Amino acid sequence: MTQFIDVPALCRLVSQVGVAEFIAGMAGAIREDFLRWEEFDKSARTASHSDVGVIELMPISDSERYGFKYVNGHPSNTERGLPTVMAFGALADVATGYPTFVAELTVTTALRTAATSAIAASVLARPNVTSMGMIGCGAQSEFQALAFHRLLGVETIRAYDIDPGAMAKLQRNLQDIHGPQVFLVDSPQQAVAGMDIVTTCTADKAWATILTPDMVEPGMHINGLGGDCPGKTELHLDVLKNAKVFVEYEPQTRLEGDIQQLPGTHPVHELWRVLAELEPGRDSASQVTVFDSVGFALEDYSALRYLQKVAEQYGEGETIALIPELADPKDLFELVMDSSGRAHARRVA
Ligand code: NAD
Repeated sequence: MTQFIDVPALCRLVSQVGVAEFIAGMAGAIREDFLRWEEFDKSARTASHSDVGVIELMPISDSERYGFKYVNGHPSNTERGLPTVMAFGALADVATGYPTFVAELTVTTALRTAATSAIAASVLARPNVTSMGMIGCGAQSEFQALAFHRLLGVETIRAYDIDPGAMAKLQRNLQDIHGPQVFLVDSPQQAVAGMDIVTTCTADKAWATILTPDMVEPGMHINGLGGDCPGKTELHLDVLKNAKVFVEYEPQTRLEGDIQQLPGTHPVHELWRVLAELEPGRDSASQVTVFDSVGFALEDYSALRYLQKVAEQYGEGETIALIPELADPKDLFELVMDSSGRAHARRVA
């Protein structure tokens, strides 16, 4: 049987563990798997584009488990009452191909993206950061704020969104929980001025320039999430040119990340190499670092693996009959017979 975690089950788990602790636990799993980078069979995700969005499949495997995520990105969805990003995914046993675990991944994507952002910032930002400017206050924003508070000690967030309702929602959601203090501001310039870290998490299927060179200060770490699709960017080309740029999986980010604006020869650095101490992160306190995040299948594999472990610990989720159980594995037809041995089929008169 296959274990299944739907949205209510995931939410019960997160409320038992606590959002920030859940992100910290997931960050541990992601870090472990990034350190096993070379054991994975990796590929850029397969994307199906339309005028309004993208639908993507993200596979990855090691010698034991195969994982994949289905995910979309439709920035205009919120006008229809649907999230921009929706996802589900599975783990399977490589030895047999049996799908062992299926889960919701919409909330989980927000948790794992925040965990990955914080892991990257922990090795790329200057030490002892305390403040973050955030442009974009949509679905990802609270998770980002809590991850940076829990894993880096960010206490102050200055936030801006073109939608005042989204800004108010971010502040309201974080006001009564142990987390950073959120100050709402009137412009993206005010959000980032004097901040240690800048997170851009806007959604617009456009060549947007949310962050321009005049807004960037020496030593900042930029955590760019929303430039994650061909023709969908957030960072001005000169912001990238003037910074040291880090990516998850270079072949995918060259196509999808903000670095799609740069020539293919412009050097970028894979995050796993910094985590494995094969390369340094920033070279000086005044250098600007950019994590050009697009979301990589390995993070979803780790998230699913972590989810499966926590679900088992808390006895959460259910089992579903996704794959037939057969007395004779060669007799699949038996399942479409009725109790008297006749096929469930309409006879042709
Ligand atoms: P969302 O639609 O819930 O929120 C996006 C917010 O951006 C909205 O509130 C919108 O008003 C705001 N916005 C749009 N243009 C803006 C601008 N010019 N200035 C300020 N605010 C602006 O989307 P979300 O789920 O929060 O996702 C945010 C982005 O992150 C999306 O582009 C999504 O594709 C991306 N994302 C990336 C990863 C990753 O792993 N890198 C994972 C999840 C989502």
